[in-house]
Amino acid sequence: MGPSMRCQLGESLTERIGNTPLFCLQRLPAAHGVAEGVQLLVKAEWYNPGGSVKDRAALRIVQEAFRSGALGNGKRLLDATSGNTGIAYAMLGAAWGFGVTLVVPASIGEERRAILHAYGAELVFSDPYEGTDGAIRLARELAAAYPERYYYADQYSNPANWLAHYEGTGVEILEQTGGRVTHFVAGLGTTGTMMGTGRRLKESNPTVMLVGVQPDDPFHGLEGLKHLPTALVPAIYDPSLIDRMEFVDTEEAYRLARELARREGLLVGPSAAAAVVAALRVARELEHGVIVAILPDSGLKYLSTPLWQAERA
Ligand code: PMP
Repeated sequence: MGPSMRCQLGESLTERIGNTPLFCLQRLPAAHGVAEGVQLLVKAEWYNPGGSVKDRAALRIVQEAFRSGALGNGKRLLDATSGNTGIAYAMLGAAWGFGVTLVVPASIGEERRAILHAYGAELVFSDPYEGTDGAIRLARELAAAYPERYYYADQYSNPANWLAHYEGTGVEILEQTGGRVTHFVAGLGTTGTMMGTGRRLKESNPTVMLVGVQPDDPFHGLEGLKHLPTALVPAIYDPSLIDRMEFVDTEEAYRLARELARREGLLVGPSAAAAVVAALRVARELEHGVIVAILPDSGLKYLSTPLWQAERA
């Protein structure tokens, strides 16, 4: 597993996972009435080699599975994923030589489908009307039916998911802000980003405010996020950690995604834009503060979705 003995020079793909840049928004805060004393910082997770924050969790999950012997000797990694975790698994499977089977809702976007195919992952489609919860149910059925064929990674219950952020994202934010972070804003999907980063930040400074972001409706366009009141709640989720919850409307996030592209030069996905919507709400209430928001992926995978197409129509 991992890079071969052949490679004395250069670096391996996985060494590039994590240590993403923290950008400071330059023009957007003033346009939204945010006081001069408030810094709005964004962690650009599309700098990971698989293009999203989920490289972190997938790497840790796969490393633990090889360490424990759950993966290896010909077993395929199986999981349910709305896309980015699947892309990360598929990338790692290709780089390290293990098979990857992903259960995805049949409604996933064309770009994601093409990317997963390009990395050579096997796709099993679940009922599009059941969303990611339908994919989770089908993955559980497959794992139970074929235990000798699959290692079921189960990102929703796997502690390696949040530990990747506890030891990675959280530490990076403390270093990059010199410990001055006052608020942390992240969208909730598996909740791994918030659980891991949030715990690490609170440990360093218990007054750090953790702001969770969810879609305001079960039927939403914020790919990667869950409307927790109506969804299967991830086993790794501990709601008591979160200080404040912000619910964001899809159209509002889309408008802000367009603004981030045109005012900051940041082309981001809808869940990233939703995190900035929430960060701006918090920022407007403050005179001073250092707010860090997670931007999980770039806008490239969403160019054919209503986020950009509705505007061109
Ligand atoms: N945004 C996007 C685009 C994602 O793919 C995910 C992962 N589901 C999230 C946000 C949420 O991250 P997490 O699973 O760590 O809660």
